[in-house]
Amino acid sequence: MKTIFYSKNVFYQNKFHKGNLIVENDKIIDFIYGDILDNAISYENDYIIPGLVDTHVHVNEPGRTDWEGFETATKSALAGGITTLVDMPLNCIPVTTSRYALELKMREIKNKLHTDCGFWGGIIPNNESNLEELLNSGVLGCKAFLIHSGIDDFPKVNEEDLRKSIPIMKKYDLPILIHAELESFEGQTENYNNPRSYSAFLNSRPKEIEDNAIKLMIKLCKEFDAHIHIVHLSSANSIDLIKKAKEEGLRFSVETCPHYLAINAEEIQDGQTIYKCCPPIREKNNNDLLWEAIKNGIIDIIVSDHSPCTANLKLIEKGDIEHAWGGISSLQFSFSIVWTEFKKRNLPLELLIKLMCKNTSKLIKKENIKGSIDKNYFADFIVWNPNEKFKVTKDIIFHKNKETPYLGRELFGKVKKVYLRGKLVFDENKFSNPLGNFILNEVI
Ligand SMILES: [Zn+2]
Repeated sequence: MKTIFYSKNVFYQNKFHKGNLIVENDKIIDFIYGDILDNAISYENDYIIPGLVDTHVHVNEPGRTDWEGFETATKSALAGGITTLVDMPLNCIPVTTSRYALELKMREIKNKLHTDCGFWGGIIPNNESNLEELLNSGVLGCKAFLIHSGIDDFPKVNEEDLRKSIPIMKKYDLPILIHAELESFEGQTENYNNPRSYSAFLNSRPKEIEDNAIKLMIKLCKEFDAHIHIVHLSSANSIDLIKKAKEEGLRFSVETCPHYLAINAEEIQDGQTIYKCCPPIREKNNNDLLWEAIKNGIIDIIVSDHSPCTANLKLIEKGDIEHAWGGISSLQFSFSIVWTEFKKRNLPLELLIKLMCKNTSKLIKKENIKGSIDKNYFADFIVWNPNEKFKVTKDIIFHKNKETPYLGRELFGKVKKVYLRGKLVFDENKFSNPLGNFILNEVI
């Protein structure tokens, strides 16, 4: 069955055009330029753009479903224009470091998905013997930490551990995602005098920790010719190194997140645990350089790093930044936050779509079926108005835990409708039944 969607602004083949998008079953089959066709559903002045692909989400199910869960996460994702998300291997119990853990997760969540979902596996010390089995079961790549992850079941790796895992990842040609903070360098402050102090927290995780980790990963990337992806870049000091690595042709990619782009350390008061994440949100002069790296194409993608927890673990009333859970909850608003910042800086929507749809699809090797509106792609698209404002209030949030630094913010870009593989799954705050699929790697 064919359905036709008309708008004056359809992002077809990487450009905006007036015309009619033709969808048959779950795929886009054609685009007819010009005026509205008979029988078309008209979205007139609203924009039709690809559904976002968010490759960094902590859903925490099974095991910590009081923090989040697939039903609430995928609903809030849809409400924020995301049609595909990739779940991180930690904060769920068991952590996704074996085939058993992945299969258990998939069994538990099977009928709860409102978006398509993929999974990252995990690299921890001594799991290289499980790794091939895990990769064969469909994870899209694997993540490792160079510093304590916050979860004891997901220990950090050192260079020796990585030297064992990288060749296996390379054999499968899948990316190795790195939380790039390298513990224990000289001068690192371990103790706080005041657990409420934001600057003490910031000083405890200086840029050098990130920069040293990135240096190590560039070295390994070069040595093994494997794909290394740095998650949530916060230190702008590393930008030149990353630029150089890319110029040398290394397979080295980098992401950053809305909170490093929309919030500066100067705005954060002592005791405001809601802003705690690792690596930390840094000062404006640093963040301005991240923006430059976005404009220059050095940062490849923007993803939410949605990492919620229950209000009691965020220690909001106590204001204890030192002991609060580190993680920012933003899945539903990630797209609008970034778009609002793009508008302020007069940056083009085309660039945002590249960073949040196309390049994220590329990271998971689904760039031929997702992240673009083009022939033979899945009909994953959103109907959206870039100029319509809304205010973030608790009653519009579909995340399980409503605490987020963005409460009260006015954002541009209201998502009105979302189509997933040709089906209307979100319609002015109403959801269809869960129609999401698993997105797995097809092993060579
Ligand atoms: Zn994360």
